[in-house]
Amino acid sequence: MTRKLIAGNWKMNGSLDTNATLVGEMLAGVGTPACDVALCVPAPYLAQVQGLLAGSSAIELGAQDVSQHENGAFTGDVSATMLRDFGVRYVIVGHSERRQHQAENDVHVAIKVKRALAAGITPIVCVGETLREHEEGMTEFIVKRQLSAVIHLNGHCISEVVVAYEPVWAIGTGKTATPEQAQAVHAVLRAQIKAATDNADRVRILYGGSMNAANAASLLAQPDIDGGLIGGASLKAPDFLKIVAAAD
Ligand code: PEP
Repeated sequence: MTRKLIAGNWKMNGSLDTNATLVGEMLAGVGTPACDVALCVPAPYLAQVQGLLAGSSAIELGAQDVSQHENGAFTGDVSATMLRDFGVRYVIVGHSERRQHQAENDVHVAIKVKRALAAGITPIVCVGETLREHEEGMTEFIVKRQLSAVIHLNGHCISEVVVAYEPVWAIGTGKTATPEQAQAVHAVLRAQIKAATDNADRVRILYGGSMNAANAASLLAQPDIDGGLIGGASLKAPDFLKIVAAAD
C-alpha cells in the first residue's frame, strides 16, 4: 500500500509573521506522521518556509504552480529549476482556480507536468468538474479528458505524478463530495491510469474540496483515496494536524 499524502494549499494567503507561527505550530504538533505531509506555499515565501522546515523530515515543501516554459522572456513566471533551487518536492499543477482565472487549459497543464518531472519535482495534477458539469452528469467525461491530456504528453511517466480529484463545486464552499461519490471518481481515474502504466497502484490519488478535521477520516478510508489536498483547513495548524492524524 502506498503511503498517503496530505498536502496543504495555502493559496494566496500568509505573511512572514503568520507563516512563521503556522509552520512552528505544525512542526511542534506533527510528530512522526504515518503519511507524507507537504505545504504548498506562495512562491515569495518558498525561501522562508524552506528555512523553517530545515531539519524536519516530517513536512516537505511544495509550490502552487510552475511555468510551462524552461526559462527566458516570461515575466512573472517561475520555472521548475527555480523551484528545485528552493528544495521544492511537490508542485500543484492545473488547480481549478488557475484553470478558471488564468485560462490554463489541458495542454498547458500537461506541459507543466513535463517541466516539473524533468526537474525532479512531483506534480500534483488537479482535475475536477464544475457544478454545472456535475449537475449535467459529465463528471467522468471531464476528469478523464483532463487526465488524458497529461497521459498523452507524459506517457508511462504518469506513474511519477500525484493526481488530485477536486470537484470545483466543493472547493472552498464547505460542500464535500460524499466518500462514495469521491471513491467512484477515484476508481475511474485509477482505471485510466492503469491503462497507461503497470505502476498505477503506486500513483496517489488525493481528494480535495472542503476536506476538514471532521470529514477526513471517512474520505481517507475509501480504497482509492490516497490522501488529501487541503485548502482552508491548512491555514489552521490544529485542523491540518487532525487531518494528518487521520491519514494512516
Ligand atoms: C484547494 O484549494 O485545493 C482546496 C481543496 O480548498 P478547500 O480545502 O478550501 O476546499
